Amino acid sequence: MRKRVGVVGGGIAGASAAYHLLKADRSLEIILVEAEDQLGYHTTGRSAALLLENDGTESTRSIVQASVDFLLNPPEGLTENVFVRPRDVMHIATFEQSASVDRFLEENSTGRIPTKEISKSEAKKRFPALREEGLDRVVVDEGAGDIDVHCLHQAYLNNFLKNGGQVKPSTRIDSATRNGDHWNLETKMGDIPVDLIVNAAGAWGDQVATRAGVEPVGLQPRRRTAFTVNSSEPNIQKWGMIADIDLQFYCKPDGQQLLCSLAEENPSEPCDAKHDEADVALAIERINAATTLDIRSVQTAWTGLRTFAPDRSMVIGPDTTDDSFFWCVGQGGTGIMTSPGVGRLLADLFTAGKPSEHFYKTGLKQEDIFPNRFRKK
Ligand SMILES: Cc1cc2nc3c(=O)[nH]c(=O)nc-3n(C[C@H](O)[C@H](O)[C@H](O)COP(=O)(O)OP(=O)(O)OC[C@H]3O[C@@H](n4cnc5c(N)ncnc54)[C@H](O)[C@@H]3O)c2cc1C
Repeated sequence: MRKRVGVVGGGIAGASAAYHLLKADRSLEIILVEAEDQLGYHTTGRSAALLLENDGTESTRSIVQASVDFLLNPPEGLTENVFVRPRDVMHIATFEQSASVDRFLEENSTGRIPTKEISKSEAKKRFPALREEGLDRVVVDEGAGDIDVHCLHQAYLNNFLKNGGQVKPSTRIDSATRNGDHWNLETKMGDIPVDLIVNAAGAWGDQVATRAGVEPVGLQPRRRTAFTVNSSEPNIQKWGMIADIDLQFYCKPDGQQLLCSLAEENPSEPCDAKHDEADVALAIERINAATTLDIRSVQTAWTGLRTFAPDRSMVIGPDTTDDSFFWCVGQGGTGIMTSPGVGRLLADLFTAGKPSEHFYKTGLKQEDIFPNRFRKK
């Protein structure tokens, strides 16, 4: 009998999970179920698309490290495009923020690409609109890059479909009921019987668990707004990105425009998040103070939900109470860049019950990502 797997959620997490699971075990029958008519409609389609190895908790950094090779050198036949284009990220600080610079340098001195301090004039060469007055110190991360999110997401999905996977858009899982050894995924379009569930529902991860009778892990969706502005500056596409060292805003080229954000983290319910004009206005005020861009109007603005577990590490693996319910949530602000590692990790846990060698080399500790860390001992 072929095992049937229901992957809930067609964002980057679900797409990568479906792709990697089928790649690891071609005998699986995998159905990717997405509530919206468009896959990637929620957080996946609303990111800043950055690859930044020096970001997040220790376990997240390990998963980013495990993802980099896939992103830079995609498996043969997966895509004809390039997933990542290099982009320096400069963390900028005023005189008052000097202690943050020291802390930042110390925290990021051991990664694959250590950050380093550069002079103000060097920083201005990489982001010519930087104001020198008020600026004190600049740290650069030269290993960062822009990810083509649409291309990566489609590559997972196209390969999954080519290998016999099934995708069901416009199909919301309302509940999941245990039926002996199987699960019944209940939807308005009819029931879907499966043997295993992968919960990749992003901000709705706890809701999906609860509706399957599985204890939630305490996920917290947090809103973050981004917006684009036009600029008359020449060659902005070649500029680096700037981010306040305490992450009070960031700004990076996005084609011929600039993509900006207040980098806020406002708690929210799971929903189709909409932006708040006040967040956009405050971001513009801060960016105008740090640069000569003189932003006066916005082209488009949007908000997405970055969803975190209480300890801000991801939740990947089988539930303690039912090992046919797999968690693949809590991607926070790094779900795009970690997606190859997350999918591969999930496939390892499915096929071998533990992460492969690939992950031990990155220092990933299973206990930091397993859902049982949130269960009473
Ligand atoms: C402004 C912003 C900037 C960001 N910048 C970066 C960045 O630079 N780099 C980076 O790596 N990450 C970044 N992120 C984070 C990244 O976008 C997320 O971590 C990632 O997209 C999460 O993917 P996901 O698949 O878990 O969630 P989603 O894309 O939200 O997918 C979950 C899917 O599950 C579906 N679903 C929910 N409930 C059900 C149900 N009951 N039945 C069926 N389907 C269901 C939803 O419809 C949704 O499509 C950013 C996010 C934001 C908002």
